[in-house]
Amino acid sequence: MAASLRDVRLTDHVWLVGSGGAGFSITHPRDCHVYLIMSGGDAVLIDSGAGIETEPILAEIERAGAGALVSRIVITHAHADHSGGAAELGRVLGATVYASAEVAGYLREGDAEKASFDVMQGPGGYPDDYRFRSCAVDGELTDGERLAVGELELEVLSTPGHSSGHLAFLLHRPGGTDLFSGDAAFAQGRILLQDLWDCSVRESTRTIRRLAALKPDGLYPGHGLFAVRDGWHHLYSAMEEIQSGLPPRQLTF
Ligand SMILES: [Zn+2]
Repeated sequence: MAASLRDVRLTDHVWLVGSGGAGFSITHPRDCHVYLIMSGGDAVLIDSGAGIETEPILAEIERAGAGALVSRIVITHAHADHSGGAAELGRVLGATVYASAEVAGYLREGDAEKASFDVMQGPGGYPDDYRFRSCAVDGELTDGERLAVGELELEVLSTPGHSSGHLAFLLHRPGGTDLFSGDAAFAQGRILLQDLWDCSVRESTRTIRRLAALKPDGLYPGHGLFAVRDGWHHLYSAMEEIQSGLPPRQLTF
């Protein structure tokens, strides 16, 4: 039996319940980081993994003691490693699914082209028998909206660039803020630009400027490393490159 990280509690309010090969290999290799935020008898999932294997994520949610508490799943963007598990996790947990209006449209339609799934399948990508499926999205989130999670608040931020309709989430908790940046910004000042229809260097650098100005304490991206403190420092290193006229460096897996 392969070894595995388990019960990954990051802070008083945040657990890592999913993470694939571009992370800490807790769950299926294709999964993005799936974060659980829990407070005062309520819990929210940020992103849902690829949905190829949802049981390991559900097991981590159980271990965190949130099995019956997850009321909502919020999706950062339509890419399948972030959104593919939403339908199944929502069904099993009895949770409602939220995304930006644009991403909600792609998920409801199961629009593989708009989610750039068609170009990510095949050699080096998603397995041939894996399909991008439609998902019922219960609510559409807009910039500036705040969701209550127990005693905490999760602020919705429109953060296009990596993909269109991308959202990030800023958690307001006692003593500071934590930024859940999806694929808009990564640790060590990295970003992720890909040869996809809706990826934009200009929008991406604009988004980094906005996120850096928030000066978040924690930084929890969709892949790779995270920072439980001094998260802003990572965004400032991206800003150094932007100020010199260059896009920040790419995340490498
Ligand atoms: Zn992505």
